[in-house]
Amino acid sequence: MSLARQPGHERHALELDAGDPLPTRRAEFHIPPHGGGEAAYFAGNSLGLQPRALRARLGEELDDWAGLAVEGHLEGRRPWFSYHELLRGPAARLVGALPREVVVMNSLTVNLHLLMVSFYRPTPERHTILIEDAAFPSDSYAVRSQAAFHGYDPDEAVIRLMPREGEAALRSEDVVAYLAEHGHKVALVLLGAVNYYSGELLDVAAITAAGHAAGAAVGWDLAHAAGNVELRLHDAGADWAAWCSYKYLNAGPGSLAGAFVHERHLADRSLPKLAGWWSTDPATRFQMAPAVSPVDSADAWQLSNPPILSMAAVLLSLEMFDQTGMPALRAKSLRLTAYLEALLDEVCAGRPARIVTPREPGRRGAQLSVRVHGRDVGPLTERLRREHGVFVDARRPDVLRLAPAPLYSTFHDCWRAAAALAAVLDDGWR
Ligand SMILES: *Cc1c(COP(=O)(O)O)cnc(C)c1O
Repeated sequence: MSLARQPGHERHALELDAGDPLPTRRAEFHIPPHGGGEAAYFAGNSLGLQPRALRARLGEELDDWAGLAVEGHLEGRRPWFSYHELLRGPAARLVGALPREVVVMNSLTVNLHLLMVSFYRPTPERHTILIEDAAFPSDSYAVRSQAAFHGYDPDEAVIRLMPREGEAALRSEDVVAYLAEHGHKVALVLLGAVNYYSGELLDVAAITAAGHAAGAAVGWDLAHAAGNVELRLHDAGADWAAWCSYKYLNAGPGSLAGAFVHERHLADRSLPKLAGWWSTDPATRFQMAPAVSPVDSADAWQLSNPPILSMAAVLLSLEMFDQTGMPALRAKSLRLTAYLEALLDEVCAGRPARIVTPREPGRRGAQLSVRVHGRDVGPLTERLRREHGVFVDARRPDVLRLAPAPLYSTFHDCWRAAAALAAVLDDGWR
C-alpha cells in the first residue's frame, strides 16, 4: 500500500486544510455529488464549478427583463446598456491591466480573430506567426486561417515551437532565443501564458520584450492563466490578450471571454478594426450616425450588445476573485499544487506514470499533467470519477490533467486524488 493511502496522510491533509491561512470558499460552490458526499473536483481548468449565488443573480436579470422589458436597458438595477462597464475594474485587476485596456465580450476564439485583425499585419518579408507546437487546436486553427486569409500558406507561415528533445514543456529562454535569431520574419507571437497541456507558465514579460525587440506584435492566450496565476499585462507591455471565463473563472459553459489591448494602441486610428454598433461612443450611439465615433478604450473592439445573462455570471465570478484577490489565491494555489505534486510523485514512483509539468513553482500554474505510459487515459479517468468521485481531465493519448482550484479545492481533495490514482493504476482496467 502506498504512503498516500495510509490514514496518516489523510489526517495530514485535513490538518493542512484546517491550518491554511486562506480558508476555502468551497461552500459557495455547487460541488458534484459522489456517493453520499461530494466529489473531489480537479477539472476546473476545463469547466469551473457553479457559484451558488449565480441562480439568484440570474434571477435578478430575469426579473428586470420580466418587469421592465425594454426599459431594463436604462432602468434595470444594473442597466444593460452599460452593463459591460461593471466588469472593467475587476477584469483589469485580474489580468494586471488598466480598466480601459480590457473588455468582456464574445468568446475566446472570436476575440483571437478580432484582435488579429488589428495585430496580425503581415507583409511579404514579415508574415510568420509564432505559436507553440502544443498550442490548443482552436488557436492553431485560428492562426492558420488568419495566414490563409491574408494569402499565405499556413504550413509555411505558422511556426510551431517545439520543446527540447526529451522535454514536455517549452522553455521561455528558448522562445526568446528563437525570436533573437528569426524574429525579423515574425509578424505575430501568440502563445498560451499557461499551456493547456503541460501546465507550463511562460515568462510573459521576457517573451513580450523579445518579440518587440524583433519587431513583432505579441499577443497572449490567457485561457489557462486568467484566474490561475498573477498577470501584469500592462507592465509586461503585451500588445493584446484574450481569455475565456469558464475555466478557472467559473462563469459557466461557453460564457463570455475577455480581451486586453495595451494602452499605447488605444488611440491609434491607423489600426484596422472590425466594427459594430457597440464599437462606437455610447454618448452618441443612438444618433444613428453612419460612421463610428471612436472611443479610446478596448470597448472599441466590441461589435454587439452583450448577452446579459452570460455577463451576469462573469460579473459574479469577477467579484469573487476580487474579494479574495489573486495574490492570496496564487499563494494558496502554490501550496495546494506543491502538496499534490508530492503525493503524485509517491504514486508515480514504481508505477508507469510521471509528472510532465515543470517542477519549478514559478514555471507553472495550478495544473499538474501526469503522463501515463502504455494505457489509455480515457477509461482511467472514467474510473477515477465513477468509483472514487475524483474528476480529472484526460488528454488523449496519455495525459491526465489535475488542477486544484484555490477557491474550492482542498488539501483533502488532493489526498483523495492521489489515493484514487494509486488504486486505479494498480488495478488495471475492468
Ligand atoms: C479553452 C481554450 C480555448 C477555447 O476556445 P473557445 O473559443 O472558448 O471555445 C481556446 N484556446 C485555448 C488555449 C484554450 O485553453
